[in-house]
Amino acid sequence: MPDSGPGTRGSGPSTTIPAEDVTRWHARIADDLRAAFEAVLPVGKYTLGVQLRAFEEEYAASCDTAHAIGISSGTAALHLGLRALGVGPGDEVITVPNTYVATAFAITYVGATPVFVDVDPATANMDPGRVAAAVTDRTRAIVPVHMYGQCVDVDAVRAAAPEIPVLEDAAHAHGATLRGRRAGSLGELAAFSFYPSKVLGALGDGGLLTTSSDDFDASVRQLRYMGQAGTKHEHLVLGYQERLDEMQAAFLRVKLRDLEDQIAGRRRVAARYGAWLAGTPVTPPAHDVTGRHVYYMYTVLAPRREDLRAFLEGRGIGTQLIYPKLVPDQGAYATSPWRAADDLSVARSLVPRLLCLPMFAELTDEEVDRVGRAVRDFYGVG
Ligand SMILES: *Cc1c(COP(=O)(O)O)cnc(C)c1O
Repeated sequence: MPDSGPGTRGSGPSTTIPAEDVTRWHARIADDLRAAFEAVLPVGKYTLGVQLRAFEEEYAASCDTAHAIGISSGTAALHLGLRALGVGPGDEVITVPNTYVATAFAITYVGATPVFVDVDPATANMDPGRVAAAVTDRTRAIVPVHMYGQCVDVDAVRAAAPEIPVLEDAAHAHGATLRGRRAGSLGELAAFSFYPSKVLGALGDGGLLTTSSDDFDASVRQLRYMGQAGTKHEHLVLGYQERLDEMQAAFLRVKLRDLEDQIAGRRRVAARYGAWLAGTPVTPPAHDVTGRHVYYMYTVLAPRREDLRAFLEGRGIGTQLIYPKLVPDQGAYATSPWRAADDLSVARSLVPRLLCLPMFAELTDEEVDRVGRAVRDFYGVG
């Protein structure tokens, strides 16, 4: 079958529809990305410069937070967020088992124990009703993950454990809202990833923490740059080399201008999928349950998932599994400590059925229709 060579990409029924694709967006803004590169190149200061400062201000404004601090990756952002909260050995941090391993790894890096709570079957998000029972006198933080681009009901999580600080894992949720408030502004701190395929991605690795606390802002700035607080060669705390560089900040400034359009594009695709899936045995994602869903992933629950996946593959349609294994089932947690607050039966029941259909803002209506048609054909629903 002809693959997506130049000139054929996305144009005919036999071309491949990838599960995700940033190249179409980048092709459209290539001149602006080149201009960003040209602006940084002659300056000679490639870390902690004007691009990063400007991006931080623009990103904080987009999240309605007082501060944003650029970090080298989403994983590093989670790590530094937990450090800033003072989480350490012997502490417990509550999170969910169906997330990317980075969420739990960051907890393990600081010497704390991840405590997994089960999720809501409709949204795959942390079930606030399970949180109170997971709290012990060692609980130091809660890390809700806004799965697939929909906010956890952080208000309900806070109500369940009013004393415990919240670090949002907002890696899936750039621009998502909870009752009108932005992801990033819901917890004491929030970690974002700019991994290239995320809703807002760099041209390489990147991450960021948002906060409205001046104290957390100061402490994260110190931690991300070797424990310095201004004076060169003075390292006040054991910090890390985990900064977002100038090139990535410059690229991200260009892309941030498109964020609302990107979200609108993803929501258009999601709405169109929803119409195709009506009357099939596939359960579409619960839509806008807590606020605006930004559809980092369009994750359905599909009977005979593996057969459907192979069928779609045969029609040139890419899919992915986010995530195919629960974190506590990963090899790393055969030796690192963790605890489950309940039986995790909901999260476990979702794993073999979940399937992420192609999702990115530049998917054409014709491509979405090809995917929808293929799913209907697989189940024989006409
Ligand atoms: C991508 C992701 C991260 C980690 O971000 P990186 O930038 O890849 O380090 C953390 N949590 C979740 C839920 C993610 O999807």
